[in-house]
Amino acid sequence: KRELTVDAYSTEHAEQIVAAVKAIPDVKVLKISDRTFDLHRQGKISIESRIPLASQSELAMAYTPGVGRICKAIADEPEKVFSLTIKNNTVVIVTDGSAVLGLGNLGPEAALPVMEGKAMLFKEFAGVDAFPICLATQDTEAIIATVKNIAPVFGGVNLEDISAPRCFEVERRLREELDIPVFHDDQHGTAIVSLAALINALKLVNKPMDLVKIVINGAGAAGIAIACLLKKAGAQEIWICDSKGILSKKRSDLNPEKQAFAVEASGTLADALNGADVFLGVSVPGVLTREMVLTMASDPIVFAMANPIPEIQPELIDNDVAVVATGRSDYPNQINNVLAFPGLFRGALDCRARVITDNMYLEAAKAIASLIPPPSLARDNIIPSVFDARVATAVASAVQFAARKDGVARQ
Ligand code: NAP
Ligand code: MG
Repeated sequence: KRELTVDAYSTEHAEQIVAAVKAIPDVKVLKISDRTFDLHRQGKISIESRIPLASQSELAMAYTPGVGRICKAIADEPEKVFSLTIKNNTVVIVTDGSAVLGLGNLGPEAALPVMEGKAMLFKEFAGVDAFPICLATQDTEAIIATVKNIAPVFGGVNLEDISAPRCFEVERRLREELDIPVFHDDQHGTAIVSLAALINALKLVNKPMDLVKIVINGAGAAGIAIACLLKKAGAQEIWICDSKGILSKKRSDLNPEKQAFAVEASGTLADALNGADVFLGVSVPGVLTREMVLTMASDPIVFAMANPIPEIQPELIDNDVAVVATGRSDYPNQINNVLAFPGLFRGALDCRARVITDNMYLEAAKAIASLIPPPSLARDNIIPSVFDARVATAVASAVQFAARKDGVARQ
């Protein structure tokens, strides 16, 4: 009996390998297992005690009667909840399962493995305890009410995989109504990391942010947030396209978030790209062609971030552009939100921020960009690796600095 372990790059590939093995004469396949499934059995995270519970006296302190005095202290002075409970280091990851990864509306149960994985990343990269909450409702008001009702336990709220445009309203209202940071990662995590990569790519081609023409393809959660942050970072000319083309003032079908970026021009993505310096794709696979890229300005920058299949395969334009980036780990320049959210919440929790401000996003982006200083900056090295241990610390201190400057830090 032999065990054969194979790294397949897709389900189809795995099936081909199994079929090929089964076709070998005299070989009998006894059992097939999938390491990814094996890894997920019983879930990926658990809760552990931080203090010992081995004696009567320890029990009497950790639980009743001792804990009663802690309860009273917090009742007398509610701010003490930060120093005497898990609130100081715990974030809730909230989803309604409506936009799970790039897979669509799979519902709350199917979203749970993603949220467990996200909790792992929080812990591994920044020591943040994060708990997954998958809601059995997709009603905007019900989501808002539920998050408000569970907020006492948490020092921050990470909204995740809630579809646009509902995600804008959910986040806006919770930011207004809660006194802890509320952050929709699919929007701002993407925006922070895209800006970090763009800062460095622009340095490489020697173009200033305020003079470049930027085309964003995709006007959903990621596209709108990227546009907002780029504006804060000084970008002046931003054109956005959705599935119907350029967000134009002539269109009557735009939601308020899209309307805010409507331009005089109208037409298709190809029209928008004519003479553009930067393409940022957060849309769907394969919508960018080499022909379109060839109409861009000199030294074009292309970030094709649709996951898992980008707007264009990098190898098709490698010789035509100055810089190309994707969301994938198997190409250079991976634009990955994990560069932002762990350090961002680490910083926000450490200073007990009441909200997350635009300056905190901006400083986080600059901190990520600064980890690749000019001598090592290159067309295939514009953004640090997700395993670069400096990232979370750099982001956390930049975020704390910005929080204090903006007057939103409690301590
Ligand atoms: P979303 O909220 O569903 O938005 C998708 C947007 O793409 C919508 O505005 C949609 O247009 C637009 N779109 C669809 N087909 C299009 C086409 N043919 N041409 C132009 N635009 C088109 O999704 P999201 O959360 O923003 O994410 C969008 C994509 O970015 C996904 O593939 C996601 O995996 C990827 N992403 C990558 C990263 C990363 O690499 N770090 C991070 C976040 C997101 P309508 O508004 O007209 O429907
Ligand atoms: Mg997400």
